[in-house]
Amino acid sequence: MKGMRSWAEIDLAKLERNLRLIRESIPEDFKYISVVKADAYGHGILPTASRLMQSGVDLFAVANIKEASEIREMGSGWPILVLGPLLEEEDDALVELDLVPSVSSVEEISRFQKLSKQTGKKIEVHLKVDTGMGRMGSWWEHASTVIEKIYSSDGLELKGVLTHFAEPSNEEFSRLQRDRFQKIISKNLPSPLPPNFIVHADNSSSLKIMEKDSVFNAVRIGLLQFGVTPPIDSALAHLPVEPVLSFHAKLALVKDLPAHTSISYGRLHKLNRPSKIGIISAGYGDAIPLHCGNQASALIRGQSYPIVGRVTMDQTLIDLTDGPNDLANGEVVTLIGQQNGNSIPLEALALHGKTIPWELLCSVTKRVPRIYLTKRE
Ligand SMILES: *Cc1c(COP(=O)(O)O)cnc(C)c1O
Repeated sequence: MKGMRSWAEIDLAKLERNLRLIRESIPEDFKYISVVKADAYGHGILPTASRLMQSGVDLFAVANIKEASEIREMGSGWPILVLGPLLEEEDDALVELDLVPSVSSVEEISRFQKLSKQTGKKIEVHLKVDTGMGRMGSWWEHASTVIEKIYSSDGLELKGVLTHFAEPSNEEFSRLQRDRFQKIISKNLPSPLPPNFIVHADNSSSLKIMEKDSVFNAVRIGLLQFGVTPPIDSALAHLPVEPVLSFHAKLALVKDLPAHTSISYGRLHKLNRPSKIGIISAGYGDAIPLHCGNQASALIRGQSYPIVGRVTMDQTLIDLTDGPNDLANGEVVTLIGQQNGNSIPLEALALHGKTIPWELLCSVTKRVPRIYLTKRE
């Protein structure tokens, strides 16, 4: 990769294959809501969403209007669900871009009803129910009022209901959340549900949709489609999804230092022998988590070398003392992904960096060019 100090390689064929694998393992009539918020988890929304459009997703979900507008520019017909609450100043864009908001409150419904009257357009909404997440959504015990309000607003059409799990690894609490959700649905919604009405909760961590009594008919998948598995044992945790993103930089300097020298800010590492230290051309200003200093390793020619000392904004240090003598300027260093048959999973780097895979993907900065492998299988 000439001219690049660090870069992320994004393999779209793998994205496509992951999507296929996930689809094959959920019931056939389920809708697949592809979550592509935060620039498609750092993968770049335009190339990923356009490949996903060709590979069979049913809806897109994003966090906000700005992200929705990027998808809307690519295709006018795609249903786009906005997961986060809207600012009132964004209401006009909602109608212009033909988006579906997730509503939580009577106030929002009044706002959207007014908006519908002003614009003469029907607004489709999904109702978010707070069954225990304590974030957005109508608290489940208050949800009946909100649903009635939607049904009595002729400018709005209820097209789906959703909830979100707070602690998917806790089966008992998740069961409680499911039961609360189920109660709201059976008490307030027509049975059978209208055609194309969708009921969704499960994401990458909490796929329990195969349960027989399930009310669900859609999933909202983010992380897993990018080939990264959540750090808990979920129903789909064993699917052989493959990481879509890998991250690389280069060796920019190699130098010899005497024993007892301290390395980098805070002097957190001391050399216990005469050592050869390499400087990698990337730091936390690219994607390497601050806290993986003295914890993680990097690959050169498929060999693993420890990251030593604190990671800095632009440079990260590795100990090359046990490596061959000819390691030199320009050598490719892999921090996430495969190299010569060896690999560092993103999950491992996240763990060493005291962070979670979601955050690590969001911290691949603008400085890092994304290189797309677009070949089809
Ligand atoms: C981000 C998000 C998802 C996707 O979660 P993953 O764990 O990445 O699959 C689903 N639903 C909501 C409400 C979200 O905010």
